[in-house]
Amino acid sequence: MKQYETVIGLEVHVELATRTKIFCGCRNQFGAAPNTLACPVCAGMPGALPVLNRKVAEFAVKAGLALGCRIRNVSRFDRKNYFYPDNPQNYQISQLYLPVCHDGAVEIEGSFGRKKVRIHEIHMEEDAGKLIHDEWSGRTMVDYNRSGVPLIEIVTEPDMRSAEETEAFLEHIQSVMRYLGVSDCRLQEGSMRADVNLSVREAGQKNMGVRTEMKNLNSLKAIGRAIEGERERQIELLEEGRKIRRETRRWDDNKETSRPMRSKEDAKDYRYFPDPDLPPVVLSEEWIRELRSRLPEFREEKRIRYQKEMGLGSYDAGILTEDRNLAEFFEETVRCGADTKKAANWLTGEVLRLLKEKGQEPGQIAFSPKHLADLIRLQETGVINKTAAKQILAAMAEQDLDPEIYAKKQGLILEKDTGRLEEAVRRVLADSPEARKELLEGKEKVAGYFVGQAMKLLK
Ligand code: ADP
Ligand code: MG
Ligand code: ZN
Repeated sequence: MKQYETVIGLEVHVELATRTKIFCGCRNQFGAAPNTLACPVCAGMPGALPVLNRKVAEFAVKAGLALGCRIRNVSRFDRKNYFYPDNPQNYQISQLYLPVCHDGAVEIEGSFGRKKVRIHEIHMEEDAGKLIHDEWSGRTMVDYNRSGVPLIEIVTEPDMRSAEETEAFLEHIQSVMRYLGVSDCRLQEGSMRADVNLSVREAGQKNMGVRTEMKNLNSLKAIGRAIEGERERQIELLEEGRKIRRETRRWDDNKETSRPMRSKEDAKDYRYFPDPDLPPVVLSEEWIRELRSRLPEFREEKRIRYQKEMGLGSYDAGILTEDRNLAEFFEETVRCGADTKKAANWLTGEVLRLLKEKGQEPGQIAFSPKHLADLIRLQETGVINKTAAKQILAAMAEQDLDPEIYAKKQGLILEKDTGRLEEAVRRVLADSPEARKELLEGKEKVAGYFVGQAMKLLK
């Protein structure tokens, strides 16, 4: 068989975590009772007028800057016309001609090495409502709560060559969006949705093959399997001398196959035209510069800094930077005087374990970095032992408390009174003359018995 190369480009939808929707004042919230978050604007009533939410432009620009894009000072909204019951206006407000961000690039890393993935554009648009097909009654219902939820769509150039590269790219996007606080990017919940465009070509060929677009991919694993499956399907067709149809396919992860959904539409099918209800989005250089200056330090930079400047291993640095809140908690703990390595150990070990047990995120840690630093110091200076430290941490995870005060209250401070110790040792030795004799004869096992007795005596 001939050698084939896979060519992949992505269209990634990211739901923005703004307080309100993109063109109206309705709350942008997941999981509310159907149609409780809708108004004449997002329900598409005739005559209702959209007004752009400033935060959406801010989030889109931040995302663009973080992905190395150029930002347009003047961008515009266009109507993408199509008819579907979840789309009450009969058009979606999107950006076709002048998307807000364009020509970016990111670097991804993996066993494939380092590589650059170019970003074609990022545009702002509104989400559609949701159809719920009720099998029991045979009816379909519509929920407009999601209608008008702000989205950005990130369109890449066809630069990825494998499932692994694609997953690395998507993980990078997730990390950047979460660090920015722009979206939680959960594939399962639909706050991130990735459509995979894929074609194959004979190795060494310059021209790209005919591509298909796959939808309905709701985990990184599913995306990996869909890429493998589609690659095989296309190669088989080519090997049989058949043609690949340009179409949109729906991936069924249970059956591990895809089915055609519709033949691919072109921009002309959507009869795009500039939305006359919305003025152009004009962004000043000054505002863009300010947003750029407020970008956070991202995962990659943090990971490198933790290793180079703070002396952490790559494992610890990797875990601590996975979540921006965890990374910042770590840095603050160190600022409060904790040893870097010790702070890293506690956070990646006991603290993450407790969070997992409670089903919480690092952003929800109940105690302050200062108190974690205090706890570490108490153990390092021998005021408490490791077991006590863990016990105190578990209490802190319920409610922020001063570890030293708590340790005193609970009697967890280690005894330093050697006089009392000596007295206890004498007592227990005197109380068990038999065992004492055995100990003096060199039976070291008996020592454990005396330690136990002394601990009992000293409570
Ligand atoms: P359309 O206008 O049909 O949406 P675009 O040019 O916007 O097409 O491309 C959509 C996505 O498809 C982009 O992510 C792009 O990288 C990807 N793409 C384009 N051509 C190919 C191809 N031959 N193989 C794989 N992906 C492709
Ligand atoms: Mg497109
Ligand atoms: Zn509304």
